[in-house]
Amino acid sequence: MLYSELASTYDRLESTSSRLEMTSILAEFYRNLEPSELRQVVYLTQGKLNPDYVTEKMGMADKMILKAVIDASRLQDRYVNDLWMKEGDLGSVAERVASERVQTNLFSQPLTLQRVVENLRGIESAEGRNSQTKKIRLLTSLLHDASPLEARYLCRTVTGRMRVGAASMTILDALASAFGVKEDREDVERAFNVSSDIGFVAERLAKDGIEGVHGIEVQVGRPVRSMLAERLPSMEEILEKLGGGCALEYKYDGIRVQAHIDNDKVTLYSRRLEDLTANFPDVVESLREAFSGQEAILEGECVPVDLKTGKLLPFQEVAHRRRKFGMEEAVKEYPVRLFLFDCLKIDSEDLTLRPFLERRKAMESKIKVTDSLMFSHMQVVDELSQAELFFENALAAGCEGIMAKSIAEGSIYRTGNRGFLWIKYKKDYRGDLNDSFDLVVVGAYTGKGKRKGVYGALLMAIYDTEAGVFQTLCKLGSGFDDAFLAELPGMLEGHQSPSPPSHLRTRMEADHWFEPAVVLEVMGAEISLSPTHTAAEGLLPEGSGLALRFPRFTGKVRDDKTAEQATTANELISMYRSQATMVDEGSSAKF
Ligand code: AMP
Repeated sequence: MLYSELASTYDRLESTSSRLEMTSILAEFYRNLEPSELRQVVYLTQGKLNPDYVTEKMGMADKMILKAVIDASRLQDRYVNDLWMKEGDLGSVAERVASERVQTNLFSQPLTLQRVVENLRGIESAEGRNSQTKKIRLLTSLLHDASPLEARYLCRTVTGRMRVGAASMTILDALASAFGVKEDREDVERAFNVSSDIGFVAERLAKDGIEGVHGIEVQVGRPVRSMLAERLPSMEEILEKLGGGCALEYKYDGIRVQAHIDNDKVTLYSRRLEDLTANFPDVVESLREAFSGQEAILEGECVPVDLKTGKLLPFQEVAHRRRKFGMEEAVKEYPVRLFLFDCLKIDSEDLTLRPFLERRKAMESKIKVTDSLMFSHMQVVDELSQAELFFENALAAGCEGIMAKSIAEGSIYRTGNRGFLWIKYKKDYRGDLNDSFDLVVVGAYTGKGKRKGVYGALLMAIYDTEAGVFQTLCKLGSGFDDAFLAELPGMLEGHQSPSPPSHLRTRMEADHWFEPAVVLEVMGAEISLSPTHTAAEGLLPEGSGLALRFPRFTGKVRDDKTAEQATTANELISMYRSQATMVDEGSSAKF
């Protein structure tokens, strides 16, 4: 297959913001590909060569890419550098340069998908002393033979920022449509959630149809996309939603860990599917000792703890374990305890479709608790007073709240999904209208006065899962201390965008734009209807969005969450509605 076919598909995707249209462009393209080509194309469409959980990156800094663009064009360095300053996006620079290059290449060969993938893999695996030169040479060789459009997307691919706006959910829609299984769309999504590998699901579907997709099961060594919780504003509503009775658990404030045990080999994954094994050697050791079977996938929260008193410590302490060097000292200085709360597989048995209490029992039968490894504290309740007491005890034990879990027949482990089988209830939900939000940085404003030289405020967004777009909720300027303001540019480095990202819906202006990547925890006083912000706009009367009034940064950077795991439009709407109900004391919501 020629790379030009993929490049023109990207170009068509980039020119539309309609999810339906994107789906049909992709479906039409996918339908005609060989299964193995399709797998590569699906990864490439997301600016990757591998599934999400493979951490190897192409690792080319902007300057290196620019060097390749210059080498391939033989234009003056100065001219190309100036263009970059003006355009901001390396893809556009490469495109422009390719259309103006001094010498047309007599010996250029059309780029095939295979050659592009081979060179990109070479870039990814280059190591050692001459790795930078090697990476530049491999990209230069592709750019040398690239058309302007191909050059645009080659450069964007190595940066990992495609700007074509095709989120995983759109790709899944397109796959279901391309291979005639629209009615089984949910099964295709489940296969993705179970394997965290969209390319693998695509290849199976193209090769073996929906039967192949049904054969995809949880597997030790391949992280599963985590089950997520909804929220409700009161214990009464929670009990009612869960049929009058449920299991309550302490909600620990630490880092979520998915442990994959294969005999002696233990691998730990974060909620973002990153490999955390090297950060928690003590947890690995505890799991090895505690588990009495051969294989397992377990989930729990890793919480900082004071070993002398047994008291749980604030979440920030565990962040010290996210370092690359000095791990031995960090293990001693910042001890943790793992509270196990779920189990997806034990030996050959996939437990994800079994009810919650059965999963818990299976886990308890195979694990011996120790001082550093325990089960989450749990109680089955069916009365409000019991639930209230459990909640008070959770707070007294240093937890941030509770998780209420369905114990009904259908209380499966819903991979990758937020739903009402799990409901979180935190201390800040009570009383006033305060609540915390996990918001994504999409823009920034240049600081003035006391904030001269740093960012003055940030533009923050939520994620609309259904539409696959980010929407702005507020401008955030409070809660920042000097140290955080100084750290911010480094945190946002590599995510700059010359214009609003293609999958951001905004009516706001900003001095700087960013691809959605960095998630911050924010508190606010009230959610209100807004003509300027776009949050949850698809769920509201035309022309309105929601805004957060008096937002304030809590000091917590949610680096355990990806941008797509930020607060969603649906969550926001339900918070807005329950807030309206609280304000009106039982009268109907505001719309
Ligand atoms: P949030 O990060 O506010 O969306 O809350 C969900 C997170 O709470 C999960 O991803 C876990 O990391 C964490 N958590 C703490 N305790 C529990 C528990 N007992 N059951 C499930 N999740 C828990």
